[in-house]
Amino acid sequence: MNFSKTLAGKLLLTSELPLTKPTIDYLIRTDQLKQLPSITTKYGRYQCNRCGNKNKQLFANIPCARCNHTHLYCRNCVQTGRVLQCDTLITWNGTVPSWSLQAQPCYWTGTLTPPQQKAAQSITQAISTHQNELLIWAVCGSGKTEMLFPAITKSIKERKRICIATPRADVVRELFPRLQHAFPHTEIEALYADSPDRTDKGQLIISTTHQLIRYHEAFDVMIIDEIDAFPFHHDQTLPYLTDRACKLDATSIYLTATPRPEHKRKIRQRKLPVQFVPIRFHGYPLPIPTLKIEINLRKKLKQGTEPKALQQFLVTRSTSRQLLIFVPTIELLKKVADHYQEVAVHAEDPARKEKVDQFRQKKIKTLVTTTILERGVTFPSVDVVVLDAGHHVFDEAALVQIAGRAGRSPGDPTGDVLFIHQGKTNAMEDAIAQIKMMNKKGKKR
Ligand SMILES: [Zn+2]
Repeated sequence: MNFSKTLAGKLLLTSELPLTKPTIDYLIRTDQLKQLPSITTKYGRYQCNRCGNKNKQLFANIPCARCNHTHLYCRNCVQTGRVLQCDTLITWNGTVPSWSLQAQPCYWTGTLTPPQQKAAQSITQAISTHQNELLIWAVCGSGKTEMLFPAITKSIKERKRICIATPRADVVRELFPRLQHAFPHTEIEALYADSPDRTDKGQLIISTTHQLIRYHEAFDVMIIDEIDAFPFHHDQTLPYLTDRACKLDATSIYLTATPRPEHKRKIRQRKLPVQFVPIRFHGYPLPIPTLKIEINLRKKLKQGTEPKALQQFLVTRSTSRQLLIFVPTIELLKKVADHYQEVAVHAEDPARKEKVDQFRQKKIKTLVTTTILERGVTFPSVDVVVLDAGHHVFDEAALVQIAGRAGRSPGDPTGDVLFIHQGKTNAMEDAIAQIKMMNKKGKKR
């Protein structure tokens, strides 16, 4: 039996292997499986070889039922199953899998806009020349998935293995059917906790970054969506996992609408190649936020007094569009929603999905929200207000993303974006400067 498709590029605990004990023993004896200690404690330095954790405080002792001993285990990756010191990790050392040859794997019939095409070309070229990394700085609403199709097509033709990693399971669920549709004869897998679409032999894998804990030197192409997004930039484990999942000569493509400062610095220092997609797929520029100062705004919001700036905006705006009101805290969310008798939504809201769906179906005219709707959601025709835009949760990236909710559809490519604040912050100024820079780049084409 050939295990190369199911086991190549994997890093599994012996207990996770879909094989019988005699088969495992046979594969180890014939050097097709390699064993690796799960936790090493050389020279007093601890390392979990599964998640890369080296922080001693994230290891603990536990009595082991299997060997009647007390063992170390890694607390950092315990969510994906506990790794005990007496466990062994397994990698594949047998024949490399050969993916089926496809002359024309892509069935997508749409056309790319010229800026999308330019980005698609740079991605394809970066992969062909084994360039280490490339960042695609593409504005919200630029149609980034389609930009990937030419590079995915070429990679499949060359029988390469591709991963699209994203911090959020929602995105995996959304991308999976679109990619299946575009590449119907390619083995595609969607990986997130409890995913039903795990086949264990995907050539193209769409995965949350956490799920890459089971991969090792698997991919020729690693595409990381929303490289700036939480929790990627908070958690050292995730960059470690994505790195390890890449083959040594792999190309990493980063997608973002709002790069973090460290990436911007690398771009300025010319250490990270970048390709801009400064214009949306419909060709219209990004709406530029208007700033409106309101004296004693926080005090008024606390007391439940309606800010004048918002009152004025609500009276004068055209009513055909829906409205998203962003607020910085759950406390304020409730106050504002109560005052205006509107629906509110936040991250822990059990009815979150229903409310967003109702808003999408236009059953709700106004939705008050925390930053959970700052990215990843598209409504065709909305105005956007940020209340207390000077609050620290609204950093530059968040404000650019929020402003990017407006004007998404070709039928209504504009939209009002209003930041109400009680004192201008650098984040507001930088967000507006970034939006203007992209619009300028978009005009120059
Ligand atoms: Zn670990």
